[in-house]
Amino acid sequence: MAGCLFCQIVSGDIEAAVVHQGESTLAFRDINPQAPVHVLVIPTEHLTNAGELTRDHADLLAEMVATAQWVAAAEGIDQSGYRLVMNVGADGGQTVGHLHLHVLGGRPMTWPPG
Ligand code: AMP
Repeated sequence: MAGCLFCQIVSGDIEAAVVHQGESTLAFRDINPQAPVHVLVIPTEHLTNAGELTRDHADLLAEMVATAQWVAAAEGIDQSGYRLVMNVGADGGQTVGHLHLHVLGGRPMTWPPG
């Protein structure tokens, strides 16, 4: 989608530290990491956020989670644990309007997240 930051990363117009390219997903390091491991998993197709997901996206969602599992194993945090987060809309803290799954780990997480 024109003007979408993460679509521009998918197209290669904006550089990112890509760690995994899947059939329908891309995973890259967050530019402002909030933990020793902070990777974003996105669908290559544009969806604004989880509020747009329907049952028709079941395979895509499964691939996003599988990609997050792959990232966790590759980053060595699959045994210690990690957090998966999707922020949805303004009050959810979403700042980039392209669906993304945060993979955070490498330190103990706290709750509530704030
Ligand atoms: P959210 O606040 O849930 O929408 O998350 C958006 C995330 O995208 C934030 O953690 C940002 O640090 C991250 N981000 C913004 N621009 C870039 C970029 N060019 N490359 C990688 N991550 C980015």
